[in-house]
Amino acid sequence: MKCPFCGFQEHKVLDSRPAREGAAIRRRRECLQCERRFTTFEEPERPRLLVIKRDGVREEYDREKLLNSMVLACGKRPVSINSLQDAVDRIEQSVYDQFDQEVETSQLGDRVMDELYRLDGIAYIRYASVYQSFERPQEFADLVRKLQKDRRKSKPAAVEISKE
Ligand SMILES: [Zn+2]
Repeated sequence: MKCPFCGFQEHKVLDSRPAREGAAIRRRRECLQCERRFTTFEEPERPRLLVIKRDGVREEYDREKLLNSMVLACGKRPVSINSLQDAVDRIEQSVYDQFDQEVETSQLGDRVMDELYRLDGIAYIRYASVYQSFERPQEFADLVRKLQKDRRKSKPAAVEISKE
């Protein structure tokens, strides 16, 4: 691996620690030539995963695409990119655990909704409106009302989506 600053191939590892909830290892490295520091992630190569779209067309699962859809929903909301990365990690973990090579787009969408629900109510509603293709204002209103009701029923900690 080349140093991102000078391209030199040799560096030393200063620190290794688990990342992405133990799914990867993060290493802090120092280039032996320019002495600048950079970070690398090491993770097992995952099996191929295909996403089955609503029209039956399959496409390669794309982490960036999923993340971007969540970033968009969280625009101008107090949600850090780190917490979104973690959310995508959990979504991937759950999908890889439950499905073998192929997953329907709705399965991904439902998991994104669960994660956004916990992170930010507004982002959740934004995502839902696109994902469920709302056409009437009433559908927004219904969802907002449902969200408010849920939030009243349970304190934020209890909104935890149960994991199997
Ligand atoms: Zn260097």
